[in-house]
Amino acid sequence: MAAHGTHHGLLIFRGASFSSPRASVCVHALENTFESRKFDRGVEYEESRSDRQEGGGTLDTKEFLKRMVEATGVSGYEDSVGKIIREVMAAHADEVTVDTLGNVIALKRGEGQSRPKVMLASHMDEIGLMVTKIEEKGFLRFTSIGGVDQRTLVAQEVRVHGQRDLIGIIGMKPPHLLTPEEAVVAIKMQDMVIDLGLTEAEVKAVVAVGDLVTINRNFIPLGGDFAAAKAMDDRAAVAAMHQCLIELKRLRHTADVYAVATVQEEVGARGALVSAYHIKPDIGIAIDVCHGEMPGVPEQDTAPLGKGPNLALGANIHPKVFERLTELAKEHSVPFTLDPVPGPTGTDAWVMQVTRAGIPTALVSLPLRYMHTSVETLSISDVKLAGRLLALFVASVDREFVEGLLCY
Ligand SMILES: [Zn+2]
Repeated sequence: MAAHGTHHGLLIFRGASFSSPRASVCVHALENTFESRKFDRGVEYEESRSDRQEGGGTLDTKEFLKRMVEATGVSGYEDSVGKIIREVMAAHADEVTVDTLGNVIALKRGEGQSRPKVMLASHMDEIGLMVTKIEEKGFLRFTSIGGVDQRTLVAQEVRVHGQRDLIGIIGMKPPHLLTPEEAVVAIKMQDMVIDLGLTEAEVKAVVAVGDLVTINRNFIPLGGDFAAAKAMDDRAAVAAMHQCLIELKRLRHTADVYAVATVQEEVGARGALVSAYHIKPDIGIAIDVCHGEMPGVPEQDTAPLGKGPNLALGANIHPKVFERLTELAKEHSVPFTLDPVPGPTGTDAWVMQVTRAGIPTALVSLPLRYMHTSVETLSISDVKLAGRLLALFVASVDREFVEGLLCY
């Protein structure tokens, strides 16, 4: 989620196990059987126990997430993480392509001749730092790429991506040496330095102005199914798309689904703009993060963790796409919460909506604590539930639904 994004009051809604008027939707992803089922519209789908147990592919969604958040991909420089995503998504897609800006586009085709296009967009770029100056004695000055919270930088271990990666730390004056005025204010980024423990000459042999810096942080498993890491925003959403493609192996769908790991969201949602223009989808769904409940923040401004994905509604969201998502969630007992967003969502959904002549869009969010820090925390079950809901949605889209989006 880009730093300017605003999320407002939230309502909580738990998915209930009952049938809505959409009971004829031909999807069913929750059971472990070898059965082939026929639904009201005569569409069949099969599922197997082996799909469920093996995660339907080579890598479990949580393992995939761990690999992604430990990789590097600052906005505009997403190659490393993009390569991982390309390789892993290929196991679940008919084809994977990369466009000029670096967006990774995994296409899973639907059945039949009349196939609507659904585009999913989760950004793979992360906020980070960039070297601006190499000082005498080898200290590095730096600036930020995207909305880095500078208060969280002091005392961090960092990785400087020079000709080879170097480990450094962000140092600061010790408390003994602070003036009384300095002691009560947060240190500014412009006053911080990166210390590599090397001389100026040694640093200059490896590092140049413009090199990237990321926080050196491994995936941290917490209690229950919670986990913390850098870049959960928004690689957890890429993991949700991965889960969606796995779930779609057990569902019949006529829609072609384009799962796009977008670039440069944190610096202006630029990857989603060009990929939506290229794909020209009938429906676009962005998957991003929203503020999760945490101490010190009013409950109505956050969404609870572990209670399923959060669905936005407001000007950025097509009412019929939103309605279909909530109906499917209720029908298939996927819990969810709601987030009324009156204005810009600060996500890829905002640019997708106004691409070409306009695209009906929706936003599925993952509740996340401590956004834009290196300890972004979320629930893995929310990631998987979001993936399931996206799969149910894709499987429910047909030509009739797409044409119905024009009249509301
Ligand atoms: Zn963000």
